[in-house]
Amino acid sequence: MQYLLTEQQKARHGDFKTFVNQNVEPFAEKWDREQRLPESVIALLAKLGYLGCSLPTQNGGHGWDTVTFGLLNEALGRGSSSLNGVLTVQTMVSKALLKWGSVEQIRKWIPMLAQGEIIGAFALTEPGGGSDIHSLVTEFTDSRGDSLVLNGAKKWISCGQFASLFLVFGKLGDRSLACLVPRETPGLEVEPIHDLMGFRAAGLAKLTFNNVEVPPANVVGKPGFALSHIAPVGLHYGRISTACSALGLLRGCFEESVTWAATRKIGNQPLGDIGMIRSLIAEMGTDLEAGSFLCHSACRAADENLPEAFEKALMAKYFTSRAAVRAASDAVQIQGAAGCHASSSVSRFYRDAKIMEIIEGTTQIHEHLLGGIFLGQVRRSLQ
Ligand SMILES: Cc1cc2nc3c(=O)[nH]c(=O)nc-3n(C[C@H](O)[C@H](O)[C@H](O)COP(=O)(O)OP(=O)(O)OC[C@H]3O[C@@H](n4cnc5c(N)ncnc54)[C@H](O)[C@@H]3O)c2cc1C
Repeated sequence: MQYLLTEQQKARHGDFKTFVNQNVEPFAEKWDREQRLPESVIALLAKLGYLGCSLPTQNGGHGWDTVTFGLLNEALGRGSSSLNGVLTVQTMVSKALLKWGSVEQIRKWIPMLAQGEIIGAFALTEPGGGSDIHSLVTEFTDSRGDSLVLNGAKKWISCGQFASLFLVFGKLGDRSLACLVPRETPGLEVEPIHDLMGFRAAGLAKLTFNNVEVPPANVVGKPGFALSHIAPVGLHYGRISTACSALGLLRGCFEESVTWAATRKIGNQPLGDIGMIRSLIAEMGTDLEAGSFLCHSACRAADENLPEAFEKALMAKYFTSRAAVRAASDAVQIQGAAGCHASSSVSRFYRDAKIMEIIEGTTQIHEHLLGGIFLGQVRRSLQ
């Protein structure tokens, strides 16, 4: 896959891996155990410009292409899925706002998001459900002045514990609407969610909106556009980010497994000489290569604004999240009891991998969408 990268992309990928090797991998188990990311590591991501790396330079970002963004997610995902979650949601909020925000909103918020001075959170899922986004019940109502009033609740919101700015989706009558809610807004309550199976350090929270005033300056886009235009931009980049992060986790499983199989002995026989262990490693390594191509293809399609960019991101996320679950299970199997202990990173990979099949659209939602796209292509060709 490396041959598809430019020299600059290869060099940056090397830098990302070094960064993760030194600043993420040694601490990821501690963050997972303590269920929190230290401010210092988020500040480091911000300082290096990683949190705004794919945003235009004129808005305070680095202007890196999506392929490079994908490589960063892959490297971070190898180290800590929770930490990569910060990059995922920061990018979801920033890209959606950059595309559909007003000139004033872009001028005010994007440079701060790009430079990591503030952390954003993407508040779509509700206690009543996440897959069917059209059934959301968070409600905007007209107030006496120009402002709207927001009531409702959001659940499972990554970075909610420490985000300063929430991109919130709701309904105004029967039309969907999105708005920005700064953390200090009166009427917003943030309740931490602990004890998740995976992504334990990703700072999830439940948000409750009690008569929150939303001034016109904080309404994003037009009524009726939020679920059809604004959320899909965020979810598209969320899928690319998660696909590449799952690829990083898969790489972690592969690397840990081949090292273990090469060094562990069963009696006098190296573990890696056992055919059944080789089968597990063969599938993992092949999934890794296939996933790399799908992720690269999705990122390239986004860079080139190809019409198939949407389905390529779906395919990449669908494939790598499922492959990561298989690989993590097999990586634990290969290590036996040692793989079941917190001292082995594969035990964390096992818990984090399953989350990848839930976020940014579950596996079933991906199958529903992709199946529909493939059938639609055939139906159109038959007309
Ligand atoms: C660690 C973590 C981080 C998250 N971060 C965020 C975040 O930052 N922002 C945010 O808004 N949300 C976030 N979420 C929520 C996530 O997006 C939702 O969990 C997800 O969309 C699924 O919604 P649900 O959990 O309500 O499941 P449900 O929608 O209740 O689905 C339950 C099951 O039914 C299946 N199902 C549903 N509809 C169909 C269908 N039509 N056909 C076939 N099967 C179907 C699903 O695949 C799933 O298996 C996060 C979740 C987790 C676990």
